[in-house]
Amino acid sequence: MGARDAVLVDAQPTRSAGRELAEWIAGKGRNLVAVLITHPHPDHYFGVEEVLRLFPQAHVLAAPPVVGEIATNGERHRAELRPIFGDDVPEHPLVPRPLRPLPLMIDHQLIRVLLLGQADCAHSTVVHVPGSRTVIAGDFAFNGTHLRTAETTTEQRAAWQANLDRIAGLGAERVVAGHRAPEQDDDADRVLDFTRGYLRDFDRLLAHHPDDPEALITAMGERYGRLTLPLFLTAGAQANAVPPG
Ligand SMILES: [Zn+2]
Repeated sequence: MGARDAVLVDAQPTRSAGRELAEWIAGKGRNLVAVLITHPHPDHYFGVEEVLRLFPQAHVLAAPPVVGEIATNGERHRAELRPIFGDDVPEHPLVPRPLRPLPLMIDHQLIRVLLLGQADCAHSTVVHVPGSRTVIAGDFAFNGTHLRTAETTTEQRAAWQANLDRIAGLGAERVVAGHRAPEQDDDADRVLDFTRGYLRDFDRLLAHHPDDPEALITAMGERYGRLTLPLFLTAGAQANAVPPG
């Protein structure tokens, strides 16, 4: 956020949450120039059309592979989520425009959008603001919540870990996670260590219980039982620890 203008990174899972977010930005007296979508999971962009209702001039942008996946899967995600959220899910998910590989400037502040690849899905970006030593990490980093592991294999989680090292190499003081429990701060080292540790524990305990999702959930629960978003653990265990036959 600059003195006059602002860029939004990701835009909430539902229309109502998107509306609330847009009102919060308007309350700050800033002009929203762009919305950057970090990755193609619907909980990061289904609120964007409501943001555009308040800021119709804002450009909705994403890296080309993210645009491609949203164009391919957005309608399917809409159909899956409509029975749960009803009208709070957009009628026709908006497809972002492809971001050109150029740095953005907002009120003289450099904003770098980096397509690092593997996080909780294959095509993910982070937004790096060197001037404020901040990385907005989408779902590369989680903070005080369970991690979304359902769409990754052990090999992909190793690639995810390597990307956490690349984020650490940016030297930011703050890493803003895509999912954060309300009481947590954004301290870069702590957030990255938490994410790495969870991934390591998940794969270590998966190796102990390769075909028993319940046992994996119990073992992870002993360590991480207090975290929010337990659905991520359940889905991750069911996808990764597959019973024989
Ligand atoms: Zn995600």
